[in-house]
Amino acid sequence: MKTINKLAVFCLSFMLVLTIIPQEARADWFDPLTIHFLDVGQADCILIKAPNGQTMLIDGGDEHDGDKIISYLEKEGVTHLDIVVATHPHHDHIGSLDDVIRAFPVSVLYMPNLPYDTKYYHDLFRVINEKQIPVDRAKAGVNFKMGFSVKVEMLAPKGSYYKHINDYSAVIKIKHGKKNFLLMADAGAEEEKEILKRGGVKADVIKLGHHGANTGTTMEFLKKVKAKTAVISVGRNNPYQFPSKEVMYRLENRKMTVYRTDQLGAIIATSNGKKILFRTNVLH
Ligand SMILES: [Zn+2]
Repeated sequence: MKTINKLAVFCLSFMLVLTIIPQEARADWFDPLTIHFLDVGQADCILIKAPNGQTMLIDGGDEHDGDKIISYLEKEGVTHLDIVVATHPHHDHIGSLDDVIRAFPVSVLYMPNLPYDTKYYHDLFRVINEKQIPVDRAKAGVNFKMGFSVKVEMLAPKGSYYKHINDYSAVIKIKHGKKNFLLMADAGAEEEKEILKRGGVKADVIKLGHHGANTGTTMEFLKKVKAKTAVISVGRNNPYQFPSKEVMYRLENRKMTVYRTDQLGAIIATSNGKKILFRTNVLH
């Protein structure tokens, strides 16, 4: 009898909670977050789909990746990009971003404060101006939520001058329940040091900086991040021989699982806030 009473109380309180929480919030809590690391060769492009249906695109591949990215997003049911981030103005990050943002409505675009006199940069701004897309500065401290369960925070750049363009990269941490993703764009050792001073770098998954180059992913940084899984966005037989042997050695040393787009194609991480599952090349 006692057990039945307890069960009844539990069921009643559960129903009460369901009544109090609005429909949208409920869907948010129980639906997964997916992060797609697209296979765009020697370039970067990451799609984030939040449980509440919001979408974020980080970088837009190199010059000829537009069609591939657009069809990937369409297959994923994307009709609108709530947030777009151009992590830094190198061609392998913004090369096709102009085509992508022309194809979808965009609510806001973040980029670091770094005017860059290249065709890609001017092409990007032409579309931003044509479509009158609001542009915000990507910098440490910017944070926002995607629904109830996903927190997004920019950990860098903090300063206003760096020797290497890569160190202007917008570094983004995504928190979903107990799970954290750290997306390094092309950040190098200088930016890593700056991020460590700020703290809060612990993550479960790290998208390595600069395609796994030895310019970053220092042992000091990996030890603080403590991630068990690394994702590397890198081209097959790329002329730079990325990822570097030194970086791969560090990952091995820390017994990390490594997913590489050159070996696996698109890599998709699905989080329920407690666990992260990876799949590759499915559907695409
Ligand atoms: Zn790059």
